[in-house]
Amino acid sequence: MKITEVKTFLMHAGAPNLKRWAADGSFGHESFSKNLTGTRNWLFVKVYTDEGVTGIGECSGWPRVIQTAVQDLSRLLIGEDPTHIERIWQKMAIAIMGHGMTGTVGAGAMTGIDMALWDIKGKALGVPVWNLLGGKIRDRIRIYGHANTAEAALSLKERGVTAIKCGGVSNPVKKVAMLREAVGDEVDIAIDLHGPPWLTPADAAQVCRALEPFNMMWVEDPVAPENLEGFRRIREHSSVTLAAGERQATIFGERELIERELVDVIQPDTGRAGGITQMKKIAAMAEAHHIGFAPHSGSLGPVAEYAALHVLSAIPNGLILERIEDDWEGREKTVIPHPRSQDGHLLVPDAPGLGVDIDEAFVAQFPSEGNVSIPISEASGSYAEGTFREHVYVQTRTRRARYFKDT
Ligand SMILES: [Mg+2]
Repeated sequence: MKITEVKTFLMHAGAPNLKRWAADGSFGHESFSKNLTGTRNWLFVKVYTDEGVTGIGECSGWPRVIQTAVQDLSRLLIGEDPTHIERIWQKMAIAIMGHGMTGTVGAGAMTGIDMALWDIKGKALGVPVWNLLGGKIRDRIRIYGHANTAEAALSLKERGVTAIKCGGVSNPVKKVAMLREAVGDEVDIAIDLHGPPWLTPADAAQVCRALEPFNMMWVEDPVAPENLEGFRRIREHSSVTLAAGERQATIFGERELIERELVDVIQPDTGRAGGITQMKKIAAMAEAHHIGFAPHSGSLGPVAEYAALHVLSAIPNGLILERIEDDWEGREKTVIPHPRSQDGHLLVPDAPGLGVDIDEAFVAQFPSEGNVSIPISEASGSYAEGTFREHVYVQTRTRRARYFKDT
């Protein structure tokens, strides 16, 4: 079997309900809905072969830019046997080495291609991808939803979801306390602090300590993931469970978080971590350190979600999958078949390959309209004195304390 063609499908995807999350922590602002609605893109990759078998994959990590990267890489693929996945992965990695560190753009491009190759291999052999990864440990994958209000949390709980995550840095302890009060002790709660510019390691350590009584599923990105010493400092001062990893890619990007045991949960993004090939390796590295594996899915489309289900099905340390349950209604129309959650879980597909394809006609109805987060006001990023956008860490201690006053 030989690869004959690689096609990309870039689409504008509607935004989640941004009363529940926003890139700069400004929750609930109406303008944000319009903002991110115009900026979230999904990129799918389809690989074709001379035997008529095709594979589908998905890339995240700046999809509009990655589309060009995939097109560049595609010339390496024509004529290759798609079942030699590791060989093709190494060939791609070497081909982009001259651009510097792989980053999420390079790894994102390799991810979509790699995912499509696993899909082809499974279809060619007539087995699901989880079977190629060593077989199934579990038939369904537990999910967690996003909730920043008691109403949203209770809505998820009523639908059987047993874990929720809130976000933002303003009054994080008060927010978690409110959610714990609302859902009781049987629902797991995580919080994503999204890293700086909102928190210094000293502030983050205080927040983490204050969150300890709430039996957190995890505290995510309490400082920027690049700040490994910041994670170490928090570790010294708090026993709270820590999670990170969505902004890194490949085993080389995730390595230090795992080897130095700076996190308890590693969160590679299924669309940009380097593909199923890398996800399986990252999971094994984490397993050796008793670190749980919970793929990031916040901005991802539904093809990568399928890939995550196969990986999570086959690894012992698969913890849980992020899923924005109240996402854009087009999510389900983008793929065939549509994934549906049931009792707080997604069923692991049993069809050959990934068990999913995109609806090309539906995707074509939503051309990309840009791919960066547009500030909601001129004040954003202005460092205007006395505003949130002055950036918390340069503000005086007394002014910073406003944001953590309940901690
Ligand atoms: Mg996150």
